[in-house]
Amino acid sequence: MSNQSGILVVAEPKDGKLANVTLESITQARALTAAAGGPVSVVVAAAEAAPFVAAAGLFGADRVYVVETPEAAVFRSNVFIDAAMAAIEAAEPAMVLCSGSPDGRDVAAGCAARLDAGLLVDLTGLEAKDGRFIATHPCFGGTVIVEKEATGGVAVATVRPNVFAREETPKDPEVISLEVEFGAGSLLAKVLDVVCENVGIVSLEEASTVVAGGRGMGSAENFKLVQELADVLGAAVGASRSIVDEGWVSHQYQVGQTGKTVSPQLYIACGISGAIQHAAGMQTSKCIVAINKDPEAAIFNFADYGMVGDAVALVPALTEEIRKRKSAS
Ligand SMILES: Cc1cc2nc3c(=O)[nH]c(=O)nc-3n(C[C@H](O)[C@H](O)[C@H](O)COP(=O)(O)OP(=O)(O)OC[C@H]3O[C@@H](n4cnc5c(N)ncnc54)[C@H](O)[C@@H]3O)c2cc1C
Repeated sequence: MSNQSGILVVAEPKDGKLANVTLESITQARALTAAAGGPVSVVVAAAEAAPFVAAAGLFGADRVYVVETPEAAVFRSNVFIDAAMAAIEAAEPAMVLCSGSPDGRDVAAGCAARLDAGLLVDLTGLEAKDGRFIATHPCFGGTVIVEKEATGGVAVATVRPNVFAREETPKDPEVISLEVEFGAGSLLAKVLDVVCENVGIVSLEEASTVVAGGRGMGSAENFKLVQELADVLGAAVGASRSIVDEGWVSHQYQVGQTGKTVSPQLYIACGISGAIQHAAGMQTSKCIVAINKDPEAAIFNFADYGMVGDAVALVPALTEEIRKRKSAS
């Protein structure tokens, strides 16, 4: 590939909309291409692309490549990789941004492998310097922050949700339809059923507030107090691995190295020690509030605000106070 310029964002459709992380990537791509040059392109693979194309335009995409096919009605890695590859060939971008979600990671890895390109994962920062893109990401459980750049050809990256702002800048993008011949191999996997366990519940990875509980809550029954605080705040619920292992909640709630990575505006940790494996999944939260009875707990080393005391008493008191203030306003 030659003349690579600009950034291509691989759109992630989610519940009929573009995932927040896609909108955040488009916003960041716009800021970067303003400095480094080149267009912001977006590739949308969907059964009905129109709402996604409109959303990409609303957030400032210059071009939208559309792969409209019933094969893309639900996520299948190879179908979405084929679609992304067709757009990469057409757009010749210097960088490709995918979501740092399970689906986005699949697509990014598939594209990087087919392009024989560098893969930058879990970006929490991306800057343009002298026409190059420098990526930042935490590694070794968040204890080290590294700067990286892909030195050969196009760079493929995954972006951590919630780290970049989302900003509407309406544009009327050029829309380019791509015909993609899916290989037999790409269609081998058949999706028989999609089970959404969390219908109506705020998604953990995209939530702007997360209330998480750990073993310090004492029991599965007491964990409901965490859920109640989350409800009153309109927040998502998270958990430490200890209580997932205890069977209080399922693994989909787990935050950390072997769970989900979150980066909300506010993370409230209730009865969580702050072990490095938990911190790895939440340390980039903008504001961390910790409730722990042990003033020496590791979580206080990186919390912005701390409450030392019994979480089983403090969490419902907090819920009550927030409820009162909400009904007064
Ligand atoms: C390979 C590997 C991967 C891992 N991945 C993850 C991961 O993804 N996510 C994760 O979370 N962990 C992970 N862990 C486990 C991690 O090391 C910790 O064991 C775990 O995070 C501890 O959970 P916890 O803080 O809820 O429990 P504990 O370590 O038992 O801590 C409980 C805390 O609650 C406090 N407390 C007790 N009672 C109260 C009370 N009444 N009020 C207020 N505070 C109270 C205590 O002071 C303590 O700080 C991993 C471990 C390994 C080895």
